[in-house]
Amino acid sequence: AKHEGRGRCCVFEPAMSAELHDRRLLEHELRGAIGRGELALAFQPQMDVASGAIVGFEALARWSHPIRGPVSPALFIPLAEESGAILEIGEWVLRHACLEAAGWASPLTIAVNVSAVQLHSTSFWDQVHRALFETGLPAARLELEVTETALIRDLPRALNTLRRLKALGVRIAMDDFGTGYSSLSNLRAFPFDKIKIDASFVKSVDGNPQAAAIVRSVLGLGRGLGLPVLAEGVETEAEMTFLRAENCAGAQGYLFGRPGPIESFASVTGLAGAP
Ligand code: C2E
Ligand code: CA
Ligand code: CA
Ligand code: CA
Repeated sequence: AKHEGRGRCCVFEPAMSAELHDRRLLEHELRGAIGRGELALAFQPQMDVASGAIVGFEALARWSHPIRGPVSPALFIPLAEESGAILEIGEWVLRHACLEAAGWASPLTIAVNVSAVQLHSTSFWDQVHRALFETGLPAARLELEVTETALIRDLPRALNTLRRLKALGVRIAMDDFGTGYSSLSNLRAFPFDKIKIDASFVKSVDGNPQAAAIVRSVLGLGRGLGLPVLAEGVETEAEMTFLRAENCAGAQGYLFGRPGPIESFASVTGLAGAP
């Protein structure tokens, strides 16, 4: 019976620890990823709805694992947040995004995602300040995308940091709007320059009355607060027609371009790609 018990146990435990082991291994491999040159940035265009022009890009982190291939940021960003590696990764993303944008011939904005761990770290303001100073990117061209979930860890501290960043001239966007909580009080208390409506509300907005009602109300909120609204995840012309009719200021999504290497947008940035 004793032997059987051990056997049963052994059917279970290795399987569970294998999953845990895999996470730990990935976490460990992620720590060295920057040094090995495995991280890259993908850029996705942000459109001005009225003119149809590209007015900026969002920088999105990409990790190309030497054996596993591309690892989704939806997997490795949370892992990096748990391990603390996000501080180093976030700083790398910030510097490279600023460096890239500083070299463009047109003064387009560059949006960079900020995780809760970064926002609440004591060195974040200095990191941003240094990235701007060392790359020469004008502060007004940098937009930091912050989610509500990132704010709530320590609201007074987040508010203080964002106010000091605003004083540098940096712009702040509320990301994934509608998916967090206490949205309305945060919108009033925090110095946001833009609201990004989450893709889940934009999806099928043209045919879904509930989605349309939510998007209209966020647009109304934006107008009332004097904040431009950008719709995320725009994939179809029908969605775009709706957004245009409702005077949504900005749009981003596969309809205009998937995130890709900046060279694929050379005609917009004014920089020729590799010869
Ligand atoms: P997010 O900030 O909401 O970024 C938008 C995500 O939607 C991106 O996924 C983008 O590729 C995807 N997307 C854009 N247009 C469309 C569309 O039309 N349809 C659909 N289905 N998806 C679209 P991605 O690149 O996989 O990133 C996922 C999340 O990972 C991001 O969501 C963000 O929260 C996080 N992330 C990515 N890069 C960074 C980073 O450098 N730092 C931090 N802290 N988080 C990052
Ligand atoms: Ca974002
Ligand atoms: Ca988003
Ligand atoms: Ca998101």
